[in-house]
Amino acid sequence: MSTSKPRIRSEKIRLELQHTFTIAGGSAAFKENVLVFYERDGLTGVGEASHVTVKEQTAERTLHAVDQLIPLYETINPFAFADLPEQARRIAAATPPARAAIEMALMDWVGQKLNLPLYRLFGLNADRAPVTSFTIGLDTPEMMQQKTREAGPYPVLKVKLGRPDDLELIKALRAVTDKPIRVDANEGWPDKETAIKKIEWLEKQNVEFIEQPLPRKLIDETAWLKERTRLPIVADEAVFLAQDIPGIAGAYSGINIKLMKAGGLLEALRMFQVARAFNLDVMLGCMIETSIAITAGTQLQSLARWADLDGNLLLSDDPYEGAVLNNGRWRPPDRPGLGVKPSASSRR
Ligand code: MG
Repeated sequence: MSTSKPRIRSEKIRLELQHTFTIAGGSAAFKENVLVFYERDGLTGVGEASHVTVKEQTAERTLHAVDQLIPLYETINPFAFADLPEQARRIAAATPPARAAIEMALMDWVGQKLNLPLYRLFGLNADRAPVTSFTIGLDTPEMMQQKTREAGPYPVLKVKLGRPDDLELIKALRAVTDKPIRVDANEGWPDKETAIKKIEWLEKQNVEFIEQPLPRKLIDETAWLKERTRLPIVADEAVFLAQDIPGIAGAYSGINIKLMKAGGLLEALRMFQVARAFNLDVMLGCMIETSIAITAGTQLQSLARWADLDGNLLLSDDPYEGAVLNNGRWRPPDRPGLGVKPSASSRR
């Protein structure tokens, strides 16, 4: 298939949130993400980078890293994408969101060029969709109750804990809902004794699993926790790439795969396979991102036991549309590539 040289460009976008979003590490009222466009042969693929709140990642750093990746993407055969994760890591090791965005744009283009939705290109089943959770951000008990009432359509909730008043917050939620709750401590519990006390109480609160209870470096202490609870212990901050999985596999029962940690769909796919080899369950997670990156996630969701794809639901004005949510389960579009398009309400 002969192709012309691609034109690749990137831009920063500002996303307004419905609520100020708070986790154990900090909070934000808006987000700056980066879009990447891969144009070739009259088709345009789009990808998105999102960033961890109040960490070393910024849109500016991502834009810079995308610029460094463009020469690679201008010269490779777009259909020989299997070893792109390694090639891109050699250029932009410290900026996985940039690698994810440019690779997502390329894969969107490849799917369009081959006239296949990406899930079909990857041999996956769009009919198999885990229920996605909806995140209730840290806030006052009253505000968290209000957010829980607003979460009426979502059958499973995720709560960010990791503060001294965790149990009071769960009690406040349990006063207004009996839905299953997934708990994410975001490394917020300082030691295993604190964590096991909270977990033993949470076991009686219809909690599905505990995500990243301890700081990522406390691997032996996390293994100690895992032996003492029936709740799955899921790694998030402790695992970015497939190569991280063997070192933590004994301490956790599952891992949270995110495109923005993995640096793209291809490394995420590899992580699913490695996790399976180590008998780990997988949650497919996200950052705060538009329907571009969320729809990219839904292309892989049939491999996951749990989905936590709610980043676009937290925006007040999503500039794109793609996957459709139905009874808490995402359906990726039947259109080729990612299948996303600018949303009707968008001013773009
Ligand atoms: Mg997490």
